[in-house]
Order: sequence, then C-alpha cells, then structure tokens
Amino acid sequence: MMFPSAQLSSASQHGHSGRSINIMQPEQAIHPLPTLAIFGGKKSFSQPLHVGRPNIVNRDRFLQRVNQILDNRWLTNNGPFVQEFERNIASFLGVKHCISICNATIALEIAIRALSLKGEVIVPSYTFIATAHALQWQEVTPVFADMDPRTYNINPDTIDELITPRTSGIIGVHLWGRACDTAAIETLAARRGLTVMYDASHAFSCSHLGRKIGSFGACEVFSFHATKFLNSFEGGAIVTNNDNLAEKIRLMCNFGFKGYDNVIHPGTNGKMTEVCAAMGISSLEVIDETIAVNQQNYRQYKNGLYGMKGLSLIEYDTAESNNYQYIVLEVDPNTAALNRDDLVKVLHAENVLARKYFWPGCHNMEPYRSYNPHAHFLLPQTERMSPRIVVLPTGTAVGCDEIARICEIMKSALDQACQVRSALENRPTV
Ligand SMILES: *Cc1c(COP(=O)(O)O)cnc(C)c1O
Repeated sequence: MMFPSAQLSSASQHGHSGRSINIMQPEQAIHPLPTLAIFGGKKSFSQPLHVGRPNIVNRDRFLQRVNQILDNRWLTNNGPFVQEFERNIASFLGVKHCISICNATIALEIAIRALSLKGEVIVPSYTFIATAHALQWQEVTPVFADMDPRTYNINPDTIDELITPRTSGIIGVHLWGRACDTAAIETLAARRGLTVMYDASHAFSCSHLGRKIGSFGACEVFSFHATKFLNSFEGGAIVTNNDNLAEKIRLMCNFGFKGYDNVIHPGTNGKMTEVCAAMGISSLEVIDETIAVNQQNYRQYKNGLYGMKGLSLIEYDTAESNNYQYIVLEVDPNTAALNRDDLVKVLHAENVLARKYFWPGCHNMEPYRSYNPHAHFLLPQTERMSPRIVVLPTGTAVGCDEIARICEIMKSALDQACQVRSALENRPTV
C-alpha cells in the first residue's frame, strides 16, 4: 500500500473547516511497509508521531488577537482577553465563575488551599502525577484509591476504607474525559463530612448526566496545556458556582490583592497571560471542528483495529458529549498475541511514540513509592490494568493515512508475534 507524501503535505495550512484543519507537517513522509522496523526495515515515519501534538487551529484569528495585545500594551494582569476567555468558558460550561490560571497544576494547588484541604486527601492512583503532586506541594498527603477496571476511574467503593480522622477531602479525576462516579463519591463525602473537587484536566467540553463537566463538586479544574484538547500554550482554569470560593481563588491567584496597594489575603502568582487567553479564545471558537476531527480519528482507529484479538479501544458514551482527545487502547495480555510493552516497542521503532499513560500509577512513583511501599496491596486493579494501556497519537496533527499505517503496523506485528518477540529479545537495549 502506498502513502503518497505529496498528497499529505498539500493539506491546507490555515483552513478553518472540517478536515482542512488537519495540518500535516510538510517534512513528514510515510514510507511503504515491506518490513517492520524492528526486523531491520525502514521506519514507517520519517518524523516522530507524538501523542498530544498540539491542536493548532484558527491561526489567523489568533494572530490578529496577538497584534491587538501588542497594540494594547496589556500583556497580563486580568487584561481584556483573559476576561473574555473567562466569560466564554463560564458560559460554554454553564457555570457561574471561571478563574483562568497559568496552568492546571497551580490551579489544583490554589483550589486545594482555597478549600482548606488538609491532612490527607483521597485521589486515584491512576492519574497524571500532577494530581498527587499538587497535594504534596501543599503538604497534604495524597492517599491513593483503586480504579474500577471497567472505567479506569476511581472506584468509589474503595474510598471508605481509606478514610481516617485526618482525611479532609476527595479529588476525583475524569480520566480521558469520561466522568468518574460523581453521585457515589458525593454521597459518601456528604456522609463522612468530606469536601469534593475534581481534576477535569481531560474533560473540557465533555458532559456527565447530560450536563457539561465543570459544575460538579465544590469546584473543577481544567488544563489548557499544549497537549490537551483545548490549549492556551500553558493554562488552566478553576470553575465553580460558589461565589465565596471564586472570590477567594481570585485573591489567591493574584498575591491577595484587592485593588491597588491593598493586600488582604495570602496568595501566589497564578495569573494567565493575554497571549495564552488569546490562544484559548481562538481554539474555543472552532471547538466543534476539533471534536469532529478527533471523533473521525477515533472511528478510523476503531475500524482499523477491528478484529485484532485482545485489543480494544475504550468507549465513549454516545449519550454524552465527548472531546475524543484520547485514543486509549487496552491490550489484554491473556488474549492478545503481543503484550502492551512489546506493541509499544514495535510502534516506537516505527517512530510512533505511543504512550503508556498513566502506568505505573502514582503510588509507584516517587516520593509516594518510598513513603508507602505497601500501597500496591490496596490497589490490585491499578496494578492489574495499568500495564495494559497504550495511548495512540490523534488530534488535528494526525491524518487518515497515518492512522491507517499505525493500524497496519499493529496488525503486521500481531500476525508475526513470535518473530516480533524474538527480534525484541535479541535487540540491543537502548
Ligand atoms: C495535564 C494534567 C494535569 C496538569 O495540567 P498542567 O496544565 O500541565 O499543569 C493535571 N491533571 C491531569 C489529570 C492532567 O492530565
């Protein structure tokens, strides 16, 4: 099968509609697949194909706004673009307050402090390390709960046994944009007098129980990091319907200033800049097109991987809205011809930099691993499931031909599983 690179690189550089925002890098060439690279063949892709390559959309509007920012000479400190971004996000999510923050990690830290979380807070182990680190950085101990193997989200049934007199709250994570069981978590929290907030970093524009994620719990935190669905280079936001909490967060993210020369609260610098807000506003304007590309990529992967034994993509509930930002593949070691790690090695050899998110779980990373070397006894599903997951490249930077090739590579590797395993064993380790 041929992959004419000229056709790929002729994609529109700045179109705003449909597939035309699917921009290919002109230098990318897809080589024909006679032999897998692990067998000594040529790499399928001349350039690495990353997971989370930024969605660069609506370029012209963004650049216009950058010019306006420079003309304004107002680069940060609650400028007009930050205010507009916050209004747009709040109205899009149907939530009263949006406070934009320089990134989601600082946003989590500010939210943790604003909610007076102390002592211990229960979080899933299976999440990006920032969820745990934000607590640790505030000298709150993250206590890791196990996952529900059907959803990979925190299993509310495992929370109760982790509660101690020091526990002050729970941070749920909507992993890959699929909401955790907010009803069960909040019922339990109410019974045990705990505060609930959510790390919604993956879940911008996703819904839960028919309502946009953003208004669950005391507050929710989004990430607009370059790799996330909606990006503002770096960025994040805390959204809440609680007026007092919003007021406190606004003070905390700007050194506690209330007006000029008047500091009334301890605080830090969590401000978003104007140029970041301009990127966020511009991306938000074309969000439907970005979702359409992601969804089409998801469908193509789904078709392309169809019939490969032991491989399954996570499902997105079609009754809810999803951003389809993550192509998450579960490789069942009991039925697939190759395990996850071998498949990842095959893909990396072809320049497809698939990722093992969020293996091996926060409890297996420092400093948590040393603090509690026995945590894994309480996390059997995290231990069992995290070695099965691989996240594949998607987003507006990935085209149909590339996805077709990635599926072909996997099929070819599975069809030659024995040879793949021996090639990997004999390969010099790098
Ligand atoms: C990306 C991410 C964060 C951190 O976001 P930044 O904006 O990069 O600080 C936190 N939690 C989860 C689950 C994430 O995926």
